[in-house]
Amino acid sequence: MQKPEISIIVPWYNEAENCAHFFETVVPILEDVTVSYEIVCVNDGSKDDTFSLLRAHRSENPNIKIVNLSRNFGKEAALSAGVDIASGRAVIPMDADLQDPPELLDAMVKAWRDGAQVVLARRMDRQSDSVLKRATSRWFYELFSRMAKPAIPKNVGDYRLMDRIVVDALKQLPERSRFMKGLFAWVGFRQITLDYTRPQRAAGSTKFNYLKLWNFALDGIFSFSSLPLKIWSYFGFLVSMVAIIFMAFLIARTILTGIDTPGYASTLSIILLFNGIILISMGAMGEYISRIFIEVKQRPIYLINEMEGFEASIDSNATSLPDVPVGGPPETARK
Ligand code: UDP
Ligand code: MG
Repeated sequence: MQKPEISIIVPWYNEAENCAHFFETVVPILEDVTVSYEIVCVNDGSKDDTFSLLRAHRSENPNIKIVNLSRNFGKEAALSAGVDIASGRAVIPMDADLQDPPELLDAMVKAWRDGAQVVLARRMDRQSDSVLKRATSRWFYELFSRMAKPAIPKNVGDYRLMDRIVVDALKQLPERSRFMKGLFAWVGFRQITLDYTRPQRAAGSTKFNYLKLWNFALDGIFSFSSLPLKIWSYFGFLVSMVAIIFMAFLIARTILTGIDTPGYASTLSIILLFNGIILISMGAMGEYISRIFIEVKQRPIYLINEMEGFEASIDSNATSLPDVPVGGPPETARK
Protein backbone atom coordinates (compact mmCIF):
# COMPACT_ATOMS: atom_id res chain seq x y z
CA MET A 1 0.00 0.00 0.00
CA GLN A 2 1.21 3.47 -0.89
CA LYS A 3 1.86 5.99 1.83
CA PRO A 4 -0.95 8.53 1.79
CA GLU A 5 -0.21 12.11 0.82
CA ILE A 6 -2.10 13.62 3.75
CA SER A 7 -2.60 12.19 7.25
CA ILE A 8 -5.16 13.80 9.50
CA ILE A 9 -4.73 12.95 13.19
CA VAL A 10 -7.82 13.22 15.36
CA PRO A 11 -7.85 12.59 19.12
CA TRP A 12 -11.23 11.34 20.32
CA TYR A 13 -12.34 11.44 23.92
CA ASN A 14 -16.08 10.99 24.53
CA GLU A 15 -17.01 12.61 21.23
CA ALA A 16 -19.79 10.24 20.11
CA GLU A 17 -22.10 13.11 19.23
CA ASN A 18 -19.47 14.63 16.93
CA CYS A 19 -18.58 11.43 15.09
CA ALA A 20 -21.03 11.43 12.17
CA HIS A 21 -20.83 15.18 11.68
CA PHE A 22 -17.03 15.12 11.65
CA PHE A 23 -16.70 12.59 8.84
CA GLU A 24 -19.58 14.07 6.84
CA THR A 25 -17.83 17.42 6.89
CA VAL A 26 -14.18 16.49 6.65
CA VAL A 27 -14.15 13.59 4.17
CA PRO A 28 -15.64 15.48 1.14
CA ILE A 29 -13.33 18.44 1.72
CA LEU A 30 -10.34 16.16 2.05
CA GLU A 31 -11.26 14.25 -1.09
CA ASP A 32 -11.30 17.54 -3.02
CA VAL A 33 -7.85 18.39 -1.73
CA THR A 34 -6.07 15.09 -2.32
CA VAL A 35 -6.63 11.66 -3.81
CA SER A 36 -4.67 9.89 -1.15
CA TYR A 37 -5.32 10.46 2.52
CA GLU A 38 -5.78 8.70 5.83
CA ILE A 39 -7.63 9.84 8.93
CA VAL A 40 -5.85 8.42 11.96
CA CYS A 41 -8.43 8.40 14.75
CA VAL A 42 -6.88 7.98 18.18
CA ASN A 43 -9.53 6.90 20.62
CA ASP A 44 -8.23 8.19 23.94
CA GLY A 45 -10.09 5.83 26.26
CA SER A 46 -13.58 7.18 25.52
CA LYS A 47 -16.23 5.93 27.90
CA ASP A 48 -19.13 6.50 25.50
CA ASP A 49 -19.59 4.66 22.18
CA THR A 50 -17.03 6.74 20.24
CA PHE A 51 -14.97 3.62 19.48
CA SER A 52 -17.83 1.59 18.00
CA LEU A 53 -18.95 4.62 15.97
CA LEU A 54 -15.44 5.04 14.62
CA ARG A 55 -15.44 1.38 13.59
CA ALA A 56 -18.77 1.81 11.85
CA HIS A 57 -17.36 4.72 9.86
CA ARG A 58 -14.23 2.76 9.09
CA SER A 59 -16.29 -0.05 7.59
CA GLU A 60 -17.64 2.48 5.08
CA ASN A 61 -14.36 4.26 4.39
CA PRO A 62 -11.09 2.32 4.73
CA ASN A 63 -9.12 5.58 4.78
CA ILE A 64 -10.39 6.00 8.32
CA LYS A 65 -7.93 4.19 10.58
CA ILE A 66 -8.28 3.60 14.28
CA VAL A 67 -5.78 3.47 17.11
CA ASN A 68 -7.45 2.49 20.34
CA LEU A 69 -5.44 3.45 23.42
CA SER A 70 -5.73 1.27 26.51
CA ARG A 71 -7.16 4.11 28.63
CA ASN A 72 -7.45 7.90 28.69
CA PHE A 73 -3.91 9.28 28.41
CA GLY A 74 -4.85 12.89 27.62
CA LYS A 75 -4.91 14.82 24.37
CA GLU A 76 -1.15 15.37 24.22
CA ALA A 77 -0.42 11.65 24.49
CA ALA A 78 -3.15 10.84 21.97
CA LEU A 79 -1.60 13.31 19.53
CA SER A 80 1.83 11.78 20.12
CA ALA A 81 0.41 8.36 19.26
CA GLY A 82 -1.06 9.77 16.06
CA VAL A 83 2.18 11.50 15.12
CA ASP A 84 4.11 8.25 15.68
CA ILE A 85 1.75 6.19 13.57
CA ALA A 86 0.62 8.48 10.73
CA SER A 87 2.54 7.77 7.54
CA GLY A 88 1.44 10.63 5.30
CA ARG A 89 3.84 13.00 3.57
CA ALA A 90 2.05 15.81 5.39
CA VAL A 91 0.42 15.44 8.79
CA ILE A 92 -2.38 17.59 10.20
CA PRO A 93 -3.69 17.22 13.77
CA MET A 94 -7.33 18.25 14.07
CA ASP A 95 -9.90 18.30 16.91
CA ALA A 96 -12.92 16.04 16.70
CA ASP A 97 -15.34 18.84 17.58
CA LEU A 98 -14.74 20.71 14.28
CA GLN A 99 -13.30 23.73 16.08
CA ASP A 100 -10.42 23.42 13.62
CA PRO A 101 -12.33 24.33 10.44
CA PRO A 102 -11.68 21.81 7.64
CA GLU A 103 -12.36 24.59 5.10
CA LEU A 104 -8.78 25.68 5.82
CA LEU A 105 -7.33 22.34 4.64
CA ASP A 106 -7.27 23.39 1.01
CA ALA A 107 -5.20 26.51 1.70
CA MET A 108 -2.90 24.64 4.09
CA VAL A 109 -2.15 21.90 1.59
CA LYS A 110 -1.59 24.47 -1.20
CA ALA A 111 0.88 26.37 0.98
CA TRP A 112 2.69 23.09 1.70
CA ARG A 113 2.80 22.16 -1.97
CA ASP A 114 4.29 25.62 -2.57
CA GLY A 115 7.16 24.80 -0.27
CA ALA A 116 6.18 25.56 3.32
CA GLN A 117 7.23 22.86 5.78
CA VAL A 118 4.90 23.99 8.55
CA VAL A 119 1.61 25.76 7.91
CA LEU A 120 0.23 27.25 11.13
CA ALA A 121 -3.44 28.03 11.59
CA ARG A 122 -3.86 31.10 13.78
CA ARG A 123 -7.14 32.01 15.48
CA MET A 124 -8.00 35.55 14.51
CA ASP A 125 -10.54 36.02 17.21
CA ARG A 126 -11.56 33.77 20.03
CA GLN A 127 -15.17 34.84 20.40
CA SER A 128 -16.07 31.19 20.89
CA ASP A 129 -14.05 31.10 24.13
CA SER A 130 -15.21 32.59 27.42
CA VAL A 131 -13.73 35.92 28.60
CA LEU A 132 -11.86 34.15 31.38
CA LYS A 133 -10.37 31.57 29.02
CA ARG A 134 -9.27 34.28 26.60
CA ALA A 135 -7.66 36.32 29.38
CA THR A 136 -5.89 33.38 30.99
CA SER A 137 -4.63 32.13 27.67
CA ARG A 138 -3.31 35.60 26.80
CA TRP A 139 -1.42 35.76 30.12
CA PHE A 140 -0.04 32.31 29.52
CA TYR A 141 1.33 33.13 26.05
CA GLU A 142 2.78 36.38 27.42
CA LEU A 143 4.52 34.62 30.33
CA PHE A 144 5.66 31.72 28.21
CA SER A 145 7.21 33.93 25.56
CA ARG A 146 9.18 35.78 28.25
CA MET A 147 10.44 32.64 29.94
CA ALA A 148 10.94 30.02 27.27
CA LYS A 149 12.80 29.79 23.99
CA PRO A 150 11.60 29.45 21.32
CA ALA A 151 8.37 31.29 22.04
CA ILE A 152 5.25 29.52 20.88
CA PRO A 153 3.30 31.48 18.28
CA LYS A 154 0.35 33.31 19.85
CA ASN A 155 -3.16 32.00 19.25
CA VAL A 156 -1.93 28.96 17.38
CA GLY A 157 -3.29 25.66 18.63
CA ASP A 158 -2.44 22.16 17.51
CA TYR A 159 -4.16 22.69 14.15
CA ARG A 160 -1.34 22.93 11.62
CA LEU A 161 0.19 21.10 8.71
CA MET A 162 3.59 19.50 9.13
CA ASP A 163 5.76 18.07 6.40
CA ARG A 164 7.18 14.54 6.86
CA ILE A 165 10.62 15.98 7.69
CA VAL A 166 9.09 17.96 10.58
CA VAL A 167 7.15 14.94 11.84
CA ASP A 168 10.29 12.81 11.78
CA ALA A 169 12.11 15.50 13.75
CA LEU A 170 9.26 15.60 16.24
CA LYS A 171 9.42 11.84 16.69
CA GLN A 172 12.98 12.19 17.92
CA LEU A 173 11.93 14.20 20.97
CA PRO A 174 11.88 11.60 23.70
CA GLU A 175 10.31 13.45 26.61
CA ARG A 176 7.36 12.10 28.52
CA SER A 177 5.76 15.43 29.26
CA ARG A 178 4.16 16.14 25.94
CA PHE A 179 3.41 19.82 25.70
CA MET A 180 2.83 19.44 21.98
CA LYS A 181 2.57 23.15 21.16
CA GLY A 182 6.00 23.65 22.68
CA LEU A 183 7.47 20.61 20.93
CA PHE A 184 5.98 21.71 17.60
CA ALA A 185 7.61 25.12 18.01
CA TRP A 186 10.90 23.68 19.22
CA VAL A 187 11.60 21.74 16.02
CA GLY A 188 11.39 24.89 13.89
CA PHE A 189 11.54 24.58 10.04
CA ARG A 190 10.13 26.90 7.38
CA GLN A 191 6.75 28.16 8.55
CA ILE A 192 3.90 30.21 7.21
CA THR A 193 0.73 31.27 9.02
CA LEU A 194 -2.88 31.31 7.89
CA ASP A 195 -5.64 33.05 9.85
CA TYR A 196 -9.04 31.66 10.72
CA THR A 197 -11.95 32.35 13.02
CA ARG A 198 -12.44 29.69 15.65
CA PRO A 199 -16.01 28.42 15.60
CA GLN A 200 -17.97 27.03 18.54
CA ARG A 201 -17.68 23.37 19.40
CA ALA A 202 -19.98 21.38 17.05
CA ALA A 203 -21.54 19.36 19.88
CA GLY A 204 -20.80 18.27 23.44
CA SER A 205 -18.70 20.23 25.90
CA THR A 206 -15.02 20.99 26.36
CA LYS A 207 -12.88 18.28 27.93
CA PHE A 208 -10.65 20.85 29.63
CA ASN A 209 -11.70 22.45 32.91
CA TYR A 210 -9.64 25.22 34.51
CA LEU A 211 -7.74 22.81 36.75
CA LYS A 212 -6.65 20.79 33.70
CA LEU A 213 -5.70 24.00 31.88
CA TRP A 214 -3.70 25.21 34.90
CA ASN A 215 -1.74 21.96 35.03
CA PHE A 216 -1.29 22.12 31.27
CA ALA A 217 0.13 25.64 31.55
CA LEU A 218 2.49 24.57 34.36
CA ASP A 219 3.61 21.65 32.23
CA GLY A 220 4.38 24.02 29.37
CA ILE A 221 6.40 26.40 31.49
CA PHE A 222 8.33 23.87 33.57
CA SER A 223 9.08 21.73 30.51
CA PHE A 224 10.40 24.59 28.43
CA SER A 225 12.01 27.01 30.86
CA SER A 226 14.49 26.63 33.69
CA LEU A 227 13.96 30.19 34.88
CA PRO A 228 11.79 29.18 37.88
CA LEU A 229 14.73 27.05 39.00
CA LYS A 230 17.44 29.63 38.52
CA ILE A 231 15.70 32.76 39.69
CA TRP A 232 16.13 31.88 43.39
CA SER A 233 19.90 32.19 43.44
CA TYR A 234 19.65 35.77 42.12
CA PHE A 235 16.89 36.50 44.57
CA GLY A 236 18.93 35.00 47.42
CA PHE A 237 21.92 37.09 46.40
CA LEU A 238 19.83 40.24 46.47
CA VAL A 239 18.38 39.44 49.89
CA SER A 240 21.85 38.66 51.28
CA MET A 241 23.12 42.02 50.05
CA VAL A 242 20.25 43.83 51.73
CA ALA A 243 20.85 41.82 54.92
CA ILE A 244 24.55 42.73 55.00
CA ILE A 245 23.77 46.42 54.59
CA PHE A 246 21.10 46.19 57.26
CA MET A 247 23.50 44.42 59.65
CA ALA A 248 26.13 47.10 59.13
CA PHE A 249 23.49 49.69 59.87
CA LEU A 250 22.42 47.88 63.08
CA ILE A 251 26.00 47.53 64.30
CA ALA A 252 26.69 51.18 63.65
CA ARG A 253 23.49 52.25 65.34
CA THR A 254 24.19 50.07 68.41
CA ILE A 255 27.65 51.55 68.78
CA LEU A 256 26.38 55.10 68.43
CA THR A 257 23.08 55.00 70.33
CA GLY A 258 23.10 51.79 72.41
CA ILE A 259 20.74 48.78 72.33
CA ASP A 260 17.05 49.07 71.87
CA THR A 261 14.92 45.90 71.70
CA PRO A 262 11.43 46.46 70.19
CA GLY A 263 10.80 44.90 66.81
CA TYR A 264 8.68 41.83 67.47
CA ALA A 265 6.13 42.59 64.73
CA SER A 266 8.72 43.42 62.09
CA THR A 267 10.80 40.31 62.94
CA LEU A 268 7.75 38.07 62.70
CA SER A 269 6.58 39.48 59.40
CA ILE A 270 10.02 39.12 57.87
CA ILE A 271 10.24 35.51 59.09
CA LEU A 272 6.83 34.73 57.60
CA LEU A 273 7.64 36.46 54.33
CA PHE A 274 10.90 34.60 53.85
CA ASN A 275 9.49 31.26 54.91
CA GLY A 276 6.84 31.75 52.25
CA ILE A 277 9.46 32.58 49.65
CA ILE A 278 11.56 29.57 50.65
CA LEU A 279 8.53 27.30 50.31
CA ILE A 280 7.76 28.73 46.86
CA SER A 281 11.32 28.10 45.73
CA MET A 282 11.18 24.56 47.11
CA GLY A 283 7.88 24.06 45.32
CA ALA A 284 9.47 25.18 42.06
CA MET A 285 12.25 22.64 42.60
CA GLY A 286 9.60 20.04 43.36
CA GLU A 287 8.01 20.71 39.98
CA TYR A 288 11.29 19.95 38.24
CA ILE A 289 12.08 16.94 40.42
CA SER A 290 8.67 15.44 39.74
CA ARG A 291 9.28 15.90 36.03
CA ILE A 292 12.73 14.32 36.30
CA PHE A 293 11.08 11.45 38.17
CA ILE A 294 8.56 10.97 35.38
CA GLU A 295 11.29 11.10 32.73
CA VAL A 296 13.62 8.60 34.42
CA LYS A 297 10.86 6.05 34.82
CA GLN A 298 10.89 5.82 31.01
CA ARG A 299 7.31 4.66 30.83
CA PRO A 300 5.72 4.76 27.40
CA ILE A 301 3.71 7.89 26.67
CA TYR A 302 0.68 5.82 25.69
CA LEU A 303 -0.33 2.18 25.34
CA ILE A 304 -2.13 0.87 22.30
CA ASN A 305 -4.86 -1.69 22.77
CA GLU A 306 -5.69 -2.30 19.13
CA MET A 307 -5.07 -0.77 15.71
CA GLU A 308 -7.37 -1.03 12.73
CA GLY A 309 -6.48 -0.13 9.20
CA PHE A 310 -2.74 -0.52 9.42
CA GLU A 311 -2.65 -4.28 8.63
CA ALA A 312 -2.98 -3.73 4.91
CA SER A 313 0.45 -2.17 4.82
CA ILE A 314 2.01 -5.19 6.52
CA ASP A 315 1.22 -7.49 3.58
CA SER A 316 2.30 -5.41 0.66
CA ASN A 317 5.02 -3.04 1.73
CA ALA A 318 7.04 -3.35 4.88
CA THR A 319 8.39 0.17 4.63
CA SER A 320 4.98 1.70 5.14
CA LEU A 321 4.48 -0.22 8.36
CA PRO A 322 3.79 2.13 11.22
CA ASP A 323 7.15 2.03 12.99
CA VAL A 324 5.49 1.90 16.37
CA PRO A 325 5.28 -1.39 18.20
CA VAL A 326 2.00 -1.99 19.93
CA GLY A 327 2.61 -0.64 23.40
CA GLY A 328 4.45 2.59 22.90
CA PRO A 329 6.57 4.91 20.85
CA PRO A 330 9.48 3.61 18.78
CA GLU A 331 12.62 2.47 20.54
CA THR A 332 14.61 5.25 18.90
CA ALA A 333 12.28 7.78 20.48
CA ARG A 334 13.04 6.43 23.91
CA LYS A 335 16.77 6.98 23.88
N1 UDP B 1 -9.24 15.06 23.89
C1 UDP B 1 -8.57 13.84 24.05
N2 UDP B 1 -8.25 13.42 25.32
C2 UDP B 1 -8.56 14.14 26.43
C3 UDP B 1 -9.24 15.39 26.24
C4 UDP B 1 -9.55 15.81 24.96
O1 UDP B 1 -8.26 13.15 23.08
O2 UDP B 1 -8.26 13.69 27.54
C5 UDP B 1 -9.60 15.49 22.52
C6 UDP B 1 -11.05 15.85 22.30
O3 UDP B 1 -11.81 14.70 22.01
C7 UDP B 1 -10.98 16.81 21.13
C8 UDP B 1 -9.66 17.53 21.36
O4 UDP B 1 -8.91 16.69 22.26
O5 UDP B 1 -10.92 16.14 19.89
C9 UDP B 1 -9.84 18.92 21.93
O6 UDP B 1 -10.63 18.87 23.10
P1 UDP B 1 -11.63 20.02 23.50
O7 UDP B 1 -12.45 20.41 22.30
O8 UDP B 1 -12.40 19.56 24.69
O9 UDP B 1 -10.65 21.20 23.89
P2 UDP B 1 -10.93 22.78 23.69
O10 UDP B 1 -11.27 22.99 22.25
O11 UDP B 1 -12.05 23.11 24.59
O12 UDP B 1 -9.64 23.40 24.10
MG1 MG C 1 -12.71 22.03 21.21
